[in-house]
Amino acid sequence: MLTPTLRLMIRLVLRRNLQDTGVIPKTATDNYYLVAALESHMSDLDEKQLLLYAQMANLIKMILPSVEVDLREITENFSKLSCNAHSICDDQLRPLGTGLYPVISIINHSCSPNSVLVFEGRIAVVRAMQPIHKGDEILISYIEIAATTETRQEYLKQYFFTCSCLRCIKNPLEERKENAILEGYRCKDHKCIGYLFYEAKEKKFTCQVCGLSRDEYEINRIAKEVSTKCASLASTVNPSEASLLYRNLELLELKLFHPHSIKLLQTRETLLKILMELNDWRGALTYCWLTIPVYQTFSTDINAHY
Ligand SMILES: [Zn+2]
Ligand SMILES: [Zn+2]
Repeated sequence: MLTPTLRLMIRLVLRRNLQDTGVIPKTATDNYYLVAALESHMSDLDEKQLLLYAQMANLIKMILPSVEVDLREITENFSKLSCNAHSICDDQLRPLGTGLYPVISIINHSCSPNSVLVFEGRIAVVRAMQPIHKGDEILISYIEIAATTETRQEYLKQYFFTCSCLRCIKNPLEERKENAILEGYRCKDHKCIGYLFYEAKEKKFTCQVCGLSRDEYEINRIAKEVSTKCASLASTVNPSEASLLYRNLELLELKLFHPHSIKLLQTRETLLKILMELNDWRGALTYCWLTIPVYQTFSTDINAHY
């Protein structure tokens, strides 16, 4: 079976051919020459990757023997796909395939974007997530934004650039604060959404908003329980059973992690998918609402929230 990338390249070659011969019309958004203008980053590729793309180009030539194929152009197009193609998901966020949208590809990235790319079937739609003033740049995120700066820069390596958005260049204290929210623990007072810093001398984690502390021993004990529970989830296949186990994990994680932490977000997103699978739409909606505040935090000015 052909991979989504190979299938996409075959469609691209055929489309170019049909547009060149005038069988199908060229439009403002559907025009092969928009693909020709995309960044390929060929010079950033290592030899191994370049060889792989050349082999894939040969494969395309073998699959389409009656179509005139320029091997160098196809090799370059594979490189373009790796940094410009989008994964298309259905409305339940299940991956459907890969698509190339050259007009969308010119939209720049930000780790605190003002817009988001969604799919309605195979149509790519850019939606504003906040009021955008005339003259403001439309920005989307190419990666998962619920991640620390270090992780985001790692994800962005595949696009061959280092992000320098406001979230990426904040001062060390703000950076520590964001990490304490995304990967840290919650305050002893569950009504407080302060973030905790570790105090090595006293072996405790102290809330930077209300001043209450949590003992390192207590944190480690719950963390151990969480990892034992996570390990037991690996063998679960039945969605009803999985929903119960993940709810238990969520309750335990709520005692440990910050309410906007990545770990809790991931558990809730898994629960959301399981509940959709079980057709429990009301339950799924509840979890959907619970995940939104985390993303809202990063889609606007992070500092405004803490
Ligand atoms: Zn950034
Ligand atoms: Zn607190």
